[in-house]
Amino acid sequence: MNAPTGKLASVEQYLKQSRKMLIGGKWVEAQSGKTFDVFNPATGKVLAKVAEGDKADIDLAVKAARGAFPAWAKLPPAARSMILWKVAELIDKNAEELALLETLDNGKPLAEAKAVDVALAAQTFRYYAGWCDKLEGATTQTNLPNMHAYSLREPVGVCGQIVPWNFPLLMASWKVAPCLATGNVSILKPAEETPLTALRLAELMLEAGVPEGVFNVVPGYGHTAGAALSGHDDVDKIAFTGSTEVGKLIVQAASGNLKKVSLELGGKSPNIVFADADLDAAVAGSANAIFWNCGQVCVAGSRLYAEKKVFDKVVEGVSEAAKKIKVGSGMDAGTQMGPVVSTTQFDRVTKMIEAGIAEGAKVATGGKRMGSEGYFIEPTVLVDVKENMRVVREEIFGPVLVAQPIDSIEEVARVANDSPYGLAASVWTRDISKAHQMAAALKAGTVWINTHGMLDTNMPFGGYKQSGWGREYGKESIELYTQMKSVFAQL
Ligand code: NAD
Repeated sequence: MNAPTGKLASVEQYLKQSRKMLIGGKWVEAQSGKTFDVFNPATGKVLAKVAEGDKADIDLAVKAARGAFPAWAKLPPAARSMILWKVAELIDKNAEELALLETLDNGKPLAEAKAVDVALAAQTFRYYAGWCDKLEGATTQTNLPNMHAYSLREPVGVCGQIVPWNFPLLMASWKVAPCLATGNVSILKPAEETPLTALRLAELMLEAGVPEGVFNVVPGYGHTAGAALSGHDDVDKIAFTGSTEVGKLIVQAASGNLKKVSLELGGKSPNIVFADADLDAAVAGSANAIFWNCGQVCVAGSRLYAEKKVFDKVVEGVSEAAKKIKVGSGMDAGTQMGPVVSTTQFDRVTKMIEAGIAEGAKVATGGKRMGSEGYFIEPTVLVDVKENMRVVREEIFGPVLVAQPIDSIEEVARVANDSPYGLAASVWTRDISKAHQMAAALKAGTVWINTHGMLDTNMPFGGYKQSGWGREYGKESIELYTQMKSVFAQL
């Protein structure tokens, strides 16, 4: 998919102006006057300058959000629903432009940015628009004489929402749509690598009629703006998606006022191929599970386990698929895999490959940088890996697969679960009984059978163990953003 030239020119024009932040319905510079550079990962060149928020800006945004909360919470639910539906319509209407911004900022292929990130962002707003007027409590029989008892579901209040760079617009939508649908107000802190679509979303939200202060965006760095938001005493809830390491810092920062915390964190998801699987589907699915979005996916199937008798065939198939992937700028037609997002991420991924090789892993394919400009890495498959190697235990968050043979269903359940993470897992087999036994045995928030990576607005998503607290999507996200009040009335 090539970008239409007119649209690209207008996006480039848009990016020439330094982007401000949205606080209380106004576009403002940072209090410090500072800006930071945002880079195009395909070229390594500066793409835009963005206002650099820190504690002072977070304080203002929290004040604005607190002021806007009562009226938004009291708005008739159908009115909130209409506004969120309108946001979805505006995302669709501006899909081309949003996809271009996402590709320039994150590096992902343009066709995917449009078909996945932007389309699902609109769908997320539509789904939660539908929830606005379906929130309910219950009337309950009690053991108390002449007591009328009922529960009310109420919003939590001012929510800080911190998102990563791998699906910038989509992760923002996962956070903001259920938050606003349930009558809360939001301060969004996008990742410093990719703030552009969140800022454009904010423009669309104002256009859709989201009142001043209900949605605020403060771009900036994690250790300044992010830390100020998660530690703020007048923030009632913090919702975070990002690394497990930072998730732990968020929990500490939130302890000051014991704000509610939900966390979507890292993963090192096992992808298990049994010998009785449809091997063509399993090979194609396993390659896609790790190389899609350049492996920068929290649920990437980054640990491949294949039964011994098909191990070589599966590794060969995945390696062949890896070699055929067209790697390039997300702006070029036909690109299937873009660069990793930043120079930091490039260093992290290439160092992990080197560490794996130093510990004895062999490269089945890939392993090297591609080109001299931008942050491109070859789709990589490592074999001869051991359970205790860093490449097997740590999240790489890049296009790097580690593959190990397995003997039995008992062994695979043990090694697959031998991880501090528990976000997702997949199983490839034609034996329906084995598939469901594995689904029960795997300690993961999502298990896929003969597929990988499927999510739905109506299905809860989140992690076991150190992959997170709480579930997003589905009605579970409504629960994350509401609290129950019990009312007793003596009759
Ligand atoms: P990261 O944790 O470094 O950053 C994520 C966000 O946190 C950014 O906005 C960053 O500015 C902010 N941040 C950093 N330090 C902070 C601090 N001290 N206080 C408050 N905020 C701070 O993660 P990343 O490298 O940008 O993203 C990749 C990680 O995100 C991976 O571990 C991946 O698995 C995870 N992720 C998880 C999910 C999920 O749903 N479970 C989805 C996408 C990504």
